[in-house]
Amino acid sequence: MTASTEFQYIVYETPEAGIARIVLNRPETANAQDTRFLYELNAAFDRAAHDDDIRVIILAANGKHFSSGHDLAEKNSYEAMHDHATVGTMCGFTCAGAERQMAREEEIYLGFSERWRNIPKPTIAAVQGKCIAGGLMLVWPCDLIIASDDASFTDPTVSFGVGGVEFFHHLWEVGARKAKEMLFTSDALSAADAHRLGMVNQVVPREELAEAALVMARKVAAKSRFALKLTKKAINGAQDAQGRELAMQNAFHLHQLAHTHWLKLYDFLMDPTGLPEATRRALGIKLDAAE
Ligand code: ZN
Repeated sequence: MTASTEFQYIVYETPEAGIARIVLNRPETANAQDTRFLYELNAAFDRAAHDDDIRVIILAANGKHFSSGHDLAEKNSYEAMHDHATVGTMCGFTCAGAERQMAREEEIYLGFSERWRNIPKPTIAAVQGKCIAGGLMLVWPCDLIIASDDASFTDPTVSFGVGGVEFFHHLWEVGARKAKEMLFTSDALSAADAHRLGMVNQVVPREELAEAALVMARKVAAKSRFALKLTKKAINGAQDAQGRELAMQNAFHLHQLAHTHWLKLYDFLMDPTGLPEATRRALGIKLDAAE
């Protein structure tokens, strides 16, 4: 096996010929995603996509939990992005207000997740522990999902005054009825429920997760690379023909409206009254003058 150390938060390795494994490696924060983390993950996906010797990509995570979502503790995230070499198609940092927020989220949230969904090679997510909010935006773009029996999937954003994560794929994953329950209640979907609903392909014991992903990857890697690419295009294209892309854009714009609303009221992207008090204090958000 070869492993790369070019990233701070991501491990890129090739456990065997034809298979790349991209591992989230910020376990001390339950793999919270800040700006650097997402650019590194995108660079790792690009590397696997551009390497003709790689036929299947596994996305895995070190630590107890797959991902706790976006790193709310990241302050000055625009400055962090400005420092980053691969700044991409952002608005050039001259914009402000809702325009700036929307440009940022279009690139590193919705944009990256859509890009990863359309990588022309099969991708397999191997998920353990908690997968919360932004965590879903890493696993849902993958073609196949294998979960350990301790995995759970949660989008609690309605509790924070925002109607779902930026990659609004809930109903394409679990159907409209369950998507509403998931969002309206902020309740976690267990691995067993996710399997029953067709969101997850397999559930395995925690200690067998890595091997199960490899077994699946080997099986897929043995097939024609071109046939796999065409099949992926056909199925993703069918979802898009059903209106997926337009529905995603609509949800994204409503999501921006919510951010704008809370920024105006509290100078914060979400409803801070829905955040745990410790988080609110750590972020220095004051609900009133007495705090
Ligand atoms: Zn957002």
